[in-house]
Amino acid sequence: MEYRELGKTGLKVSFISFGGIPIQRGTKEDAAGAIDELEKQSINYIDTARGYTVSEEYIGNALKGRRDRFIIATKSMSRDYESMKKDIDISLGNLKTDYIDLYQLHNVPVGDIEKVFSDNGAYKALLEAKEEGKIRHIGVTAHSVDALKIFVDRYADCIETIMFPYNIVESQGEEVLKKAKDKGIGTIAMKSFAGGNITDVSLALRYIYHSGLIDVAIPGMGNNKEVKEDSAVDLTLPFSETEKAECEKIRKELGTTFCRRCGYCGPCTVGINIPGSFLFVNYLRHYEGLAEWAKQRYAGMAVKPDACVECGSCEARCPYNLPIRDMLKKVYKEFKDAGVE
Ligand code: SF4
Ligand code: SF4
Repeated sequence: MEYRELGKTGLKVSFISFGGIPIQRGTKEDAAGAIDELEKQSINYIDTARGYTVSEEYIGNALKGRRDRFIIATKSMSRDYESMKKDIDISLGNLKTDYIDLYQLHNVPVGDIEKVFSDNGAYKALLEAKEEGKIRHIGVTAHSVDALKIFVDRYADCIETIMFPYNIVESQGEEVLKKAKDKGIGTIAMKSFAGGNITDVSLALRYIYHSGLIDVAIPGMGNNKEVKEDSAVDLTLPFSETEKAECEKIRKELGTTFCRRCGYCGPCTVGINIPGSFLFVNYLRHYEGLAEWAKQRYAGMAVKPDACVECGSCEARCPYNLPIRDMLKKVYKEFKDAGVE
């Protein structure tokens, strides 16, 4: 396993680390199996969030008796002092620990930045928790380059890490990530596989590693099998010409208008599974062997994309400003053309 310094935090983290979103979909036994495998593979960094339903709890249960072998990072969407204070204590309880290595302000848009750093803002609660020894480092996560720029340009003295999407098809953060590295801010890459749109694990993780911009990547892993698969990648292997061409091909195919399956757009007013719709149509389009599976899953959706009443509330919540309504119309048409309604 390759390790890197996480900015100036003094933490030495495994480059391939554990993203804790997928364990929500499995059982607590799956989660425990994943943590066992992390230990075997010498992966030492675990990322989760208050917002990932049972993720903190599952991780806390699985870490009993071995908490000190891992660096734990979590995050909260709280923007004000009181709610952040409460969230930190809830995280400590869920994770069954008396300290959290990195606590992050989760998905902060430009419009919330001033509030977070105001007198009654969430940052004040993080600072207090740090003084009390409940947390050791403070970071932020963002999905927009504009927000990332503000954090790195104006708040570099307040934050120790930033987390941002970075992968073969998402290079929008490159300039700011470089600046952050120059300032000693730790860089964490989310969306290693572009929300499941990139299926070549080795290509995806080596691309991030060789960029030189990132200290730690946190692909989501739901069980021991996925941990094994991700940790088997030999990061040091250079890119062949064929692989460089493959990256170009992926960029051309996906463009920029694709769903990262972050789930922030939900709940849909009429109950459409928005990321699910995009996932199924991707399989229909790109994977011959999975087209039938995609049709079955789509056919089983309780509410189909044509039920959209165009209220637009999902688009207001999507951090990537995707034209969800238009995209859903295409999903409906493609499945209809493939004989499923
Ligand atoms: S615009 Fe359509 S898909 Fe989006 S929340 Fe409204 S009904 Fe749901
Ligand atoms: S449509 Fe946007 S908000 Fe919804 S899952 Fe996809 S990327 Fe995330």
